Amino acid sequence: MSKILNEVLAANKDYVNDFGDKGELPMPPGRHFAILTCMDARLDPAKYAGLSEGDAHVIRNAGGRASDDAIRSLVISYKLLGTREWFVIHHTDCGMETFNDEIMRGLLSSSLKTASVDADGWHDCCEGPGSAEGKYIDWLTIKDQEESVLEDVTRIKNHPLVPSDIPVYGYIYDCKSGRLIEVPAATAVGRAG
Ligand SMILES: [Zn+2]
Repeated sequence: MSKILNEVLAANKDYVNDFGDKGELPMPPGRHFAILTCMDARLDPAKYAGLSEGDAHVIRNAGGRASDDAIRSLVISYKLLGTREWFVIHHTDCGMETFNDEIMRGLLSSSLKTASVDADGWHDCCEGPGSAEGKYIDWLTIKDQEESVLEDVTRIKNHPLVPSDIPVYGYIYDCKSGRLIEVPAATAVGRAG
């Protein structure tokens, strides 16, 4: 059995033992808010934003970007489950700043093995085959963190399925300190109308 699989199942056993009365939690988030953030392993929204089970929705993808699928989740979050305030939280040192569509498409077209990175950028270490399918995906990479937060808050705020009375707050999580730093331009755009 995989070491990771063993570890996860053992950790889950401990979790179940201390589960307490969490089985009684209702489905709608008790604190009525949602966070859209990056999947980066260094970010733990439950810790950096003080969440317990049942408190809030956390939607994660590479970059914490306002993709069509993130918007699908946010719309369900308010329309069916009653969230009233949203956060878009990107972060410093995001992997999404290290490549662009062209680089990713090139890497995937040459090999499906894990690439490596050094001062000169990304390299394929192994031979193919790769796949051209990467050309059909918008990888939603990031050039500038403040810009990407502003862009995503603006997209969410202007989306026809998002009601104007939901405020959307724009923040950058600092990986060095754990601090949330406001992007004032994004929060201004995200203000409830
Ligand atoms: Zn990231």
